[in-house]
Amino acid sequence: LYTKTLKDLENKSNLNAFVHINQDGARQALECQKQLKNGIQRPLEGIPIAVKDNFCTKGIPTTCASKMLQNFIPMYNATMVERLQAAGAVIVGKTNLDEFAMGSGTVDSIFGPTKNVWRSNSDEWHIAGGSSGGSCTAVASGVCVAALGSDTGGSVRNPASYCGIVGFKPSYGLLSRHGLIPLVNSMDVPGIVAQTVEDVMAVFSVVIGPDLNDSTCLNMNLDTNKFQQDFSIRDCRIGIPEEYNCKGLSKEVKDTWNYIADLIDNSEGMVKKVSLPHTSASIATYSVLNACEVASNMSRYTGILYGYRSTQNYKSFESLITTNRIEALGEVVRSRILSGNFFLLQSNYEKYFLQSLKVRRLISDDFQNIWKSNYDFLVTPTTLTTAPLLSEFKSLDNRTQCATQDYCTQPANMAGCPAITIPVKLSKSKMPISIQIIGQNFDDIRLLQFANWLE
Ligand code: GLN
Repeated sequence: LYTKTLKDLENKSNLNAFVHINQDGARQALECQKQLKNGIQRPLEGIPIAVKDNFCTKGIPTTCASKMLQNFIPMYNATMVERLQAAGAVIVGKTNLDEFAMGSGTVDSIFGPTKNVWRSNSDEWHIAGGSSGGSCTAVASGVCVAALGSDTGGSVRNPASYCGIVGFKPSYGLLSRHGLIPLVNSMDVPGIVAQTVEDVMAVFSVVIGPDLNDSTCLNMNLDTNKFQQDFSIRDCRIGIPEEYNCKGLSKEVKDTWNYIADLIDNSEGMVKKVSLPHTSASIATYSVLNACEVASNMSRYTGILYGYRSTQNYKSFESLITTNRIEALGEVVRSRILSGNFFLLQSNYEKYFLQSLKVRRLISDDFQNIWKSNYDFLVTPTTLTTAPLLSEFKSLDNRTQCATQDYCTQPANMAGCPAITIPVKLSKSKMPISIQIIGQNFDDIRLLQFANWLE
């Protein structure tokens, strides 16, 4: 199995999905075969799984696609990786991402951009989306059954949608972030991508559960067996948030959204228009909070204890650190550090940081009000358009891209709600179109059941 995966990997290497192949995978695969011979079958025995390169993997480079961590080899596994391996999964390799998971394209990586497996009529290739574009291309190209990503504002759902696969962002606090290199601690969640909802569920079942190494991982165990139980759409109240019908939403995505709403309606699920009035403030609020947490998180990268060390002569300890950071961090990362520190200046703190926290609460309350009005799910677009061509993506400045592309995915991170994207159909240009379902906090299993029904 592993040899086949390696062959596939070689054939698909032009897609640039992987930044590192796990040489130890062959040994792990043999181990699984032995287990099977002995009649032991763990839930994911021998299943090839890829891991985004911002999860720590013991003895395997973990770069975050940054020059800063290019030579970093962790001494421990992220809890997610540990649990996958304990369940018998074979980690095939580490996947490409935007530097430190900042982006929506998997274009901003020291390893170069990842390509989408889907081709339109154009000669040029389309972006995979991001920042978990490597993981999504790995799954979409068939070299692995599932992959781990991370989702702070849409980084699992955006590329999953562009690549035509299933992408699941669980409720905040259900999966351990231990060993996931942080972007925005209050919004980051590990996510799972696969070809089907059932495969996502199989992975979710083995990684869920409390973790003493992560105090934000709740002491809560969902009953994953419920996934197998009957699901009736007739018992569901579904909201269609009107604010998601936003500027820039393409006609084909809007038509797909209407098509799904009609489909649920015709199946006797209750579908009604609802309002989440603070949605339009979400991107601006997210941008401030993101930069603030980034500024704080990135201060650990000095190049002193670990990470990139410049070979230039330096005059002082401070200038050494500055040179290390200037030489090793990309423009997007540096601009977020700069703006975050600006928002956190004593004179700005209240005006930007505290104010954004208040608006975040309003956005989160919008969701809670919907759930209190007895709605079970929200159905929305995932991305505003299908995957752009690389030249289209680059023609807009990067921050504008992130801001528009995350419009529908990012509010769920503010509220910690679970959300999933599933592919619905191909557009005229042969690129995939997906739909997003958002559920109540910790109602993840029913969300997966609904997605499975829709699939
Ligand atoms: N595109 C968003 C950003 O750049 C989301 C990233 C993510 O979810 N990791 O911040």
